[in-house]
Amino acid sequence: MTTTKTADVDGTLAQIYALAGAGCDIVRCTCNDEAAAEGLAQIVPRSPVPIIADIHFQYRLALAAMEAGVQGLRLNPGNIRKPDQIKAVASEARDRGLAIRIGVNAGSLDPEIFERHGGATPEALVESAVRELTYFREVDFEDVKISVKASNVALMIDSYRLLSETVDHPLHLGVTEAGPPPAGLVKSTAGIATLLAEGIGDTIRYSLTADPVEEAQAGRTLLEAMGLRERKGLDLIACPSCGRAEVDVIRVAKEAQAALEGRNIPLQVAVMGCVVNGPGEARGADLGIAAGRGKGHLFVRGHVVRVVPEAEMVSALIDEAEKIMEEGIEARIAAADVDAERIAAETREELLQIQGTDANHDSEKIKKIRVIAEG
Ligand code: SF4
Repeated sequence: MTTTKTADVDGTLAQIYALAGAGCDIVRCTCNDEAAAEGLAQIVPRSPVPIIADIHFQYRLALAAMEAGVQGLRLNPGNIRKPDQIKAVASEARDRGLAIRIGVNAGSLDPEIFERHGGATPEALVESAVRELTYFREVDFEDVKISVKASNVALMIDSYRLLSETVDHPLHLGVTEAGPPPAGLVKSTAGIATLLAEGIGDTIRYSLTADPVEEAQAGRTLLEAMGLRERKGLDLIACPSCGRAEVDVIRVAKEAQAALEGRNIPLQVAVMGCVVNGPGEARGADLGIAAGRGKGHLFVRGHVVRVVPEAEMVSALIDEAEKIMEEGIEARIAAADVDAERIAAETREELLQIQGTDANHDSEKIKKIRVIAEG
């Protein structure tokens, strides 16, 4: 999950790219106000992974997030409790073909359920999830994943075991508020690994009081250690392409993958559709290429080091990857062409003049979001 303000589009995208590079397949962003929903409209088209909006108390923000284009929502049944509002969100998700995670949390259980069970017991957590599921089913919505997180590891394990016996939906595992490493890592691993070893769980998240990239790395390490995820040498990431793309990203990414695979290059390499945002969004990557005005802009950890003709993008990428392997990242940044950054800045400016600042037509979505969020 990102820790930036979602309204900070560039900061959030940089974190999403770093998370994707660290092994995240799906990223959740908070959607706690209208500015966040508007930010999502600009983030989703540029994100390399599906984005889930975390909805807190206002069901209208769930509707706004869907208008922004998110691929899914997380709803906390303890926070949005009015059945008509829950059903309105589920109906909209159904119509748009989106998924919802029912995210029950022991710390924010529905007070009525909490009282009746005498606390946050496994039965109470599961009842909260099942009640939400019942509302969803009333509007014929079943595309649901469920979590019953707790900060107490034993409670978390017992709750998921009960949940897996009760429902037949995918489950998302996590020990909530696990705290800073190393204790947070140990608690999360104890809860998640125990359940995975029993065959329970479909997605996971480490909730650490740390840089979210550490969370992703911990999750990836656990999955690799348990033989649930393949270990990779080369890690090729690519932007999904959007209205700003200056090149066929899919073709270039395939060519780069084919050329780099087989060489023993344990680098993270990014193929990005435009130089306007590419080097910044993928600044966590060791090496990358971004297109712009018929040229390829080669960057190392976000620094543009060379500009080459577009036809030479892939060969330049391979050449630079081999040099990084021989000389190291810092040496290659130091060896950058003196005018590469200037040319990239000029190209960015040219593209902004041509495409404007709204190449993805986010402003139309933002107008609709304002209407929905303000009722
Ligand atoms: S084309 Fe540019 S702005 Fe669009 S997703 Fe790719 S890098 Fe991001």
